[in-house]
Amino acid sequence: MLKEAAASGQKIDMHVHMVANGSSGAGGWIRLKGWHRVLAGFMVRQLGLHPRILEGDLDGFYAQRLLELVRSSSFDAVVLLAHERVHDPDGKVREDLGSMYVPNDLVLRLAREHPEFLAGVSIHPARRDAITELERCVQEGAVLMKCLPNCQNIDCSDRRYQPFWERMAEFGLPLLAHTGGEHTVPVVNAALADPKKLRLPLECGVTVIAAHCATRSGAFDPDYFADWTSMVGEFPNLYGDISAMVSLNRCGHLRGCLRPELSPRILQGSDFPVPVLGHRLWLRGWINHHDFRRIQKLSNPLERDWRFKEALGFGTDVLTRAASLLRFPEVS
Ligand SMILES: [Zn+2]
Repeated sequence: MLKEAAASGQKIDMHVHMVANGSSGAGGWIRLKGWHRVLAGFMVRQLGLHPRILEGDLDGFYAQRLLELVRSSSFDAVVLLAHERVHDPDGKVREDLGSMYVPNDLVLRLAREHPEFLAGVSIHPARRDAITELERCVQEGAVLMKCLPNCQNIDCSDRRYQPFWERMAEFGLPLLAHTGGEHTVPVVNAALADPKKLRLPLECGVTVIAAHCATRSGAFDPDYFADWTSMVGEFPNLYGDISAMVSLNRCGHLRGCLRPELSPRILQGSDFPVPVLGHRLWLRGWINHHDFRRIQKLSNPLERDWRFKEALGFGTDVLTRAASLLRFPEVS
C-alpha cells in the first residue's frame, strides 16, 4: 500500500484532474450547463472519448485512458486531484453550487491500485469534519491537498481555518491552491483568487503551491503574477505550478517563470484535461514554426504540454521537484 516511489528523481506532473460522474460507485457527480458543457465535450473528445461518455462509465474510461497516457509519456507518475464541493464559511455544503464533485475516496483508491497515480485530496477547511478527514486522507496515502478558493468558496486567510493549516504543516502535506481567474469551473467568489489570501497557510508553515503562478485566465481578470513573485521573495515555502499555461489565454507569463529568482520554485503541472494549445508561443516568437508544428502534433497531451515548456527552456528539474515536496508515506 505504501508508495515505494518516494524516491527522488521521479518525474511527476503534479496537476492532473480526475473527472467522475459516480459510475464507479465511489460517489461524485458532474453537472454541466451552457459554456461548461461545450467545453467538457471538447475536452472529452480530445481524450479520444465520445461526449456520450459523460453519461456512461466516465470514471472507468477516464482513469484507464489517463493511465495509458502516463505510461506513454516522460512521466513516472501524476498527482490525480479530487474536487471538493462548495461550502459556506460555517461548514454547510452548498449542493446548489459548483459543477462537479470528485470524492477523496476515488483518488485514494486509484492511487492504491496504480503506482502511476498519486492522490491529491480536496477538503474544504470549513467542514466540521475537516481535520478528521485530513487525518484519514493522510493515513490513506494523500500526497497533497488541492483546493480552488474562488470556486469552492474558501478564504484561506480566515482565522477559523488556522488549526486546519497547522495540522497540514505538521503532516508536511503541501497545499495546491488555484490562483488567478478560472473559466472551466464556475466561480463563486472572484476575490478569493488572490494569492495574498495564502499568507495564513504560509505563515502556519504549510508548503503552498500557487497553481498557474496566479496568472490571469481571461482578458478581464486581475493579473496577480507580480503579487505572487514578490511573495516568492518573502516566503521560502511558496512555489508555483505552470499548469494550463500552454494555452491561448494563460501563456503570457510562462517565459517569466524562467527568471533565475523564480525557476527554483516552479513545478510541472499540465492541468489535464485542459487543452494544450501552443499557438501563441509561436505567434509571440518564443518558439519557431517548425517546433510549434512538431510539438502540437503530439497526440499525448501530457507529453505535448511538457515538450512545449522544454522548447521554451524549462529543464527536467521542474519535473523532479515535486518528488521532494509531496508527502510520501515512509516506507518501512
Ligand atoms: Zn486545475
